[in-house]
Amino acid sequence: MTIQVRNKKEPLRLTLVLAHPDDESFICGGTIAKYAALGADISLVCATKGEMGRRMGNPPFVNRETMPALREAELREACRLLGIGDLRFLGIRDKLVECEPVSQLVETIKTELRFRKPHVVLTFHERIGGHPDHCAIGLATTRACAELKRELPQLRLYFISFGEAMKRPEKYGFRKEQITRIDITDQRRSKMLSFRAHRSQTELDKSLWGPDDRVVREFGTNEYFIQADAPYRPGETDLFAHVK
Ligand SMILES: [Zn+2]
Repeated sequence: MTIQVRNKKEPLRLTLVLAHPDDESFICGGTIAKYAALGADISLVCATKGEMGRRMGNPPFVNRETMPALREAELREACRLLGIGDLRFLGIRDKLVECEPVSQLVETIKTELRFRKPHVVLTFHERIGGHPDHCAIGLATTRACAELKRELPQLRLYFISFGEAMKRPEKYGFRKEQITRIDITDQRRSKMLSFRAHRSQTELDKSLWGPDDRVVREFGTNEYFIQADAPYRPGETDLFAHVK
């Protein structure tokens, strides 16, 4: 079954704009797998190749020179496992996204979004991204989406979030009505496999490499997103509700 825009034959499109290889799997892998399985077109714009990652495998099997190519290969495999059909790197150096001139980054992202015409964009929130690269790409993407409002009226922006912590959004300065909860119970195995695809970064996490059934059980059954723009849809459980 392919999910489509209401009364039209075009598939639903989702674009992620993130900072590093592994952001997609760690934070919203279940949601990606869910919509990909329903036939949505999923694309990922990744600012860097994560070449400054501190983890080198366990035992170490990667070094600073081999890391960019290795992490790219790991991300391509994660994309295959999750159903992301289109991957684009912006070629920014890892840990330096915040040093990019914002207006230039906004224009780059606008070009990517104009080309893909997504119904849903997922990125980091500029304040609670948890890493300077995350906050910088989130800020630029938020501005890009605001500037494209007229051109792409179907576009709805969501911020990815800290999972279960978002059961109490007030703690982070958001309203309960802004929270969209996606049930990923059936996608936890795909999420686990995509974590493992990023082997250089996840091998140190022993719990992730235990028996599959146990690992799957330990994943949360929901992923949470923050609706960027009012009017908010309280209790929303589908990122594409606005176009279906
Ligand atoms: Zn990251």
